[in-house]
Amino acid sequence: MRVAIAGAGLAGLSCAKYLVDAGHIPIVLERRDVLGGKVAAWKDKDGDWYETGLHIFFGAYPNMLQLFNELGIEDRLQWKEHAMIMNQPNNPGVYSRFDFPDLPAPWNGVAAILRNNDMLTWEEKVRFAIGLVPLMLRGQAYVEEMDQYSWTEWLRQHRIPERVNEEIFIAMSKSLNFIGPDEISATVILTALTRFLQEKNGSQMAFLDGAPTERLCQPLVDYITERGGEVHLNAPLKEIQLDSQGSVSGFLIQGLKGAADQTLAVDTYVSAMPVDPLKVMLPDRWREMDYFKQLDELAGVPVINIHLWFDRKLTDIDHLLFSRSPLLSVYADMSNTCREYANPDKSMLELVLAPAKDWIVRPDEEIIAATMAELEKLFPQQIPTPAKLLKYKVVKTPRSVYQATPGRQAYRPSQPTPISNFYLTGDYTLQRYLASMEGAVLSGKLTAQAICRDQQAIMSEQTISESEPEGSSV
Ligand SMILES: Cc1cc2nc3c(=O)[nH]c(=O)nc-3n(C[C@H](O)[C@H](O)[C@H](O)COP(=O)(O)OP(=O)(O)OC[C@H]3O[C@@H](n4cnc5c(N)ncnc54)[C@H](O)[C@@H]3O)c2cc1C
Repeated sequence: MRVAIAGAGLAGLSCAKYLVDAGHIPIVLERRDVLGGKVAAWKDKDGDWYETGLHIFFGAYPNMLQLFNELGIEDRLQWKEHAMIMNQPNNPGVYSRFDFPDLPAPWNGVAAILRNNDMLTWEEKVRFAIGLVPLMLRGQAYVEEMDQYSWTEWLRQHRIPERVNEEIFIAMSKSLNFIGPDEISATVILTALTRFLQEKNGSQMAFLDGAPTERLCQPLVDYITERGGEVHLNAPLKEIQLDSQGSVSGFLIQGLKGAADQTLAVDTYVSAMPVDPLKVMLPDRWREMDYFKQLDELAGVPVINIHLWFDRKLTDIDHLLFSRSPLLSVYADMSNTCREYANPDKSMLELVLAPAKDWIVRPDEEIIAATMAELEKLFPQQIPTPAKLLKYKVVKTPRSVYQATPGRQAYRPSQPTPISNFYLTGDYTLQRYLASMEGAVLSGKLTAQAICRDQQAIMSEQTISESEPEGSSV
């Protein structure tokens, strides 16, 4: 069976990978000239990489880790010490650590929290632990139910002082969905806490050893094409064409640089585009269907990824850092954390600016000036002097992952759609992980499974009707 997939992000590529494994022929069409979507990366004129986002892999990413194993590239994940490291806003240049000892879950997490006395009081720790009892007792059902509340509302309901937001959960919300705890759904934080507390290495972090486009997406493309699939860059889906029944008859691919548009007609079609461009492209005949109408409730959140190259080392910390700054979210010195970006003498900081809604339209110079002002608090010994900023790169994503405000879970669509030959994949589709790389890879796998299942059902129906003796009736 030939399957057209629009979008070569992790979801589209994962879907194609699992389709070739099942003996099908995926044809992936990517709008841009670069693989990876939200993990895309580019080289500047000096040969330095810059990326759409600072990306962290977690121990609690089973589908992603399985994919690395299946591709034979598991050595490309650089695992860091099992810890979370946070800046202390009132103590510039000083860090507070949550170190996870070598104990089974959840005791390693409990020990990490109990042993950190910089951030939470004992009373706050006890109240928080009591707040988590329903989570322990009721698991995923409870997590889903809490989608009606923001994280701050959840804290209030459990009489947990909102100060814990200042200490921990502003940083956590910003890192998970680029918004603050007043806006984020409690489901998002509870999902992350569940994974981190249930699995011994759930919160352990890894950096990829180079740019995701080359080190993760390209091996996926090689795997797919070596087994008969195709991946085409510069191939934007322009229109989803329908037959008289309302099913898909073809994907119209826009011809670039004066070339004519072309229709690709195959057996099955998949959108692996983010939800925002998909909404724009929906055929009019589908728009009134409840399944597609629910997509109006999902929209991408803005975020900015900043790269700063310095003339000297600012830190030797080989880990992700939570800035706890009002402007910034997480950051890392990539010259320490990532083999391909390594430099023993000079730092390259990659920083996520979030929430970014007030910044996304501002010029790069303003964004860099504000970031440098924040860095004076994070690196008071080096910034503004003696460290010199050599160059910078700002990558803005006005609509990134879907904004996970309360109530969004109900609108995340299943991978199969009411249209028999059309499927969705992408981190925003319904799967038990958040809008993340793990969610994208899992959604791709679920879409491939749904396609194979439906194909098998059609084939066995045909076999049954072919083998039925003439004249038999039900
Ligand atoms: C700044 C930032 C930091 C992040 N940090 C992390 C992290 O630390 N850990 C983590 O797990 N996740 C992180 N994420 C989230 C993660 O990157 C995404 O969840 C994941 O990559 C989404 O994959 P996807 O395939 O669903 O969508 P996308 O990556 O958006 O892929 C969609 C693809 O569709 C293509 N497309 C769009 N329109 C068309 C068209 N008309 N025709 C053909 N193709 C089209 C796009 O160009 C794109 O390539 C981060 C994201 C950002 C932006």
